[in-house]
Amino acid sequence: MDRLTGGIEIGGTKTVVLIARGRTIVELRRIATTTPAATLAACRAAFAEWARHGPLAALGIGSFGPLDIAGGRITNTPKPGWAGTEVVAAFADLGVPVAFDTDVNAAALAEHRWGASKGTAVSVYLTIGTGIGAGIVVGGRPLHGLVHPEVGHIGVASGDGFAGICPFHGDCLEGLASGPAIAARTGQDAASLDANHPVWPVVAGEIAAVLTMLLLTVSPERIIIGGGVGHGQPQLLPLIRADVARRLNAYVAPVTPDTLRTILCAPGLGDLSGPLGAIALAAPE
Ligand code: ADP
Ligand code: ZN
Repeated sequence: MDRLTGGIEIGGTKTVVLIARGRTIVELRRIATTTPAATLAACRAAFAEWARHGPLAALGIGSFGPLDIAGGRITNTPKPGWAGTEVVAAFADLGVPVAFDTDVNAAALAEHRWGASKGTAVSVYLTIGTGIGAGIVVGGRPLHGLVHPEVGHIGVASGDGFAGICPFHGDCLEGLASGPAIAARTGQDAASLDANHPVWPVVAGEIAAVLTMLLLTVSPERIIIGGGVGHGQPQLLPLIRADVARRLNAYVAPVTPDTLRTILCAPGLGDLSGPLGAIALAAPE
């Protein structure tokens, strides 16, 4: 039987804590992301309750960033109270190895191991939610370099002149196309907008600009699009595919309107890519 591993996905609004054997989830709990102390304590309490299933062999944590991955901490997030949070140290007394990475690198890893990117050499997982971020897996490992990919903060041309809301950059992709940015553009919660609202083709074009850059730089065989906005607005994917095809103009031979239906796709693991990503981090292959 597979070892029991723990996972935590720390999101901007909610945190998911779980234990699993292999990719089979044994327990899972969603908690609100409040202060760092209260949120991390609720995770520890869940593991304590679940001790009846046996001891954990390892823990994986995927978190919103930006992160100091080697240092186990969140760095300069604009999320109130969270800048500088020591995440890994909060679980030191469990006495198990703790793997730490971005929520999207974790999700990309789970999709590569068990989901829609299985068998690929290079794959991307892009979330469009409260923020926008992407994880990149190369050769079965999440990509780290100077720090980690920060795809959501690439600057793009606004499709309608909207100035954007990113506190660092204004009109980066996150500043234009995240859930809160769409709400600022339309004056309505993104979740309440009609599928044929005129904002969607504009947002799809901005997302397509960044996906085109990714196709031209890291050459992924899959780009998976998840997150609350990605999931909740299924009409976006076809709009994005059409815009990417138009931008590439048949230059990258394997990318055609037909293959784009596979290359740009929904998560194979549904809304579990992030939580299972934390589990995948805990149990490297
Ligand atoms: P988080 O980013 O905190 O991990 P989500 O990925 O669920 O959480 O993203 C939350 C964002 O997604 C919010 O801005 C919300 O308005 C937006 N959202 C949630 N559901 C939908 C939907 N059906 N359509 C469009 N936007 C949605
Ligand atoms: Zn930005």
